[in-house]
Amino acid sequence: MNTPPVRVLLLAGTREARELALALSGSEEFLTTASFAGATEMPAHLQVKTRVGGFGGVEGLARYVTATGVHAVIDATHPFAVQMSANAVAACKATDIPLLRLERIPWVAPDGAEWINVACGTEAAAALPRGARAFLAVGSNSLGPFSQRHDVWFLVRTWDRQTKPLPLPHYVAVSGPPPKTADKDMELMRAHDVTHLVTKNSGGPAYTKLEAAAQLNIPALVIARPKLPPAETVDDPSAALKWLQRFVGSV
Ligand code: NAP
Repeated sequence: MNTPPVRVLLLAGTREARELALALSGSEEFLTTASFAGATEMPAHLQVKTRVGGFGGVEGLARYVTATGVHAVIDATHPFAVQMSANAVAACKATDIPLLRLERIPWVAPDGAEWINVACGTEAAAALPRGARAFLAVGSNSLGPFSQRHDVWFLVRTWDRQTKPLPLPHYVAVSGPPPKTADKDMELMRAHDVTHLVTKNSGGPAYTKLEAAAQLNIPALVIARPKLPPAETVDDPSAALKWLQRFVGSV
């Protein structure tokens, strides 16, 4: 007799979510739907079914997982996607559906770095000295706190190409994925006479900018991760796959 597949809702938006989707795609034991907020122009093409757009808060997510018979939820959203992660905790609690958070480990300072921890974007914006030329790598939705710094010039790097003006007084925007080696980021920072780096502590492969800043003796203002409601957590896709395997044969 065939065992019914475990229906998985994968809250996506990260490289780890893509890796887990790929691991789940070849298996008959799982029926996976990956969910995207719709924040990026082109959600990654995954090997599993995808849906795009918000659920409508905690109640909407609770309705969705109940209506679609989801057996387990993996929250593989970005460590700064605090609302979605909080909603996942509340909705899974309300519906008694198991939840696992897949969250990459935070970065630590490279050797020799001038690494300044700040609590949020507002604190980072306030810490930039007058006349700074800041490489701002915080994502296009997190530029608000920097919009009043008329005395600072920004080099903004975003994943998607920006088609509308950004809410900053003086800036140049570049787009695309971060480079694989620090050399390219050193070149970029030198070309724009960057004096400071501002980044979220996202973790993952975009570490090259921090290595580049350390090598150029450029101070890095690193925005700490927001506090999330507690949930069982792993930091790599293979551990998430192992966690999911416990449901095979029991749904
Ligand atoms: P957020 O503030 O935590 O979420 C805002 C709302 O967007 C949520 O309440 C939810 O709407 C919807 N949403 C977020 N992620 C979703 C998902 N995977 N599937 C369906 N709906 C989702 O999120 P955010 O910081 O704007 O990030 C949006 C997406 O971009 C996330 O998927 C995240 O992984 C990715 N991302 C974020 C960052 C970052 O720095 N924040 C960086 C890289 C990638 P409803 O309440 O209507 O359900």
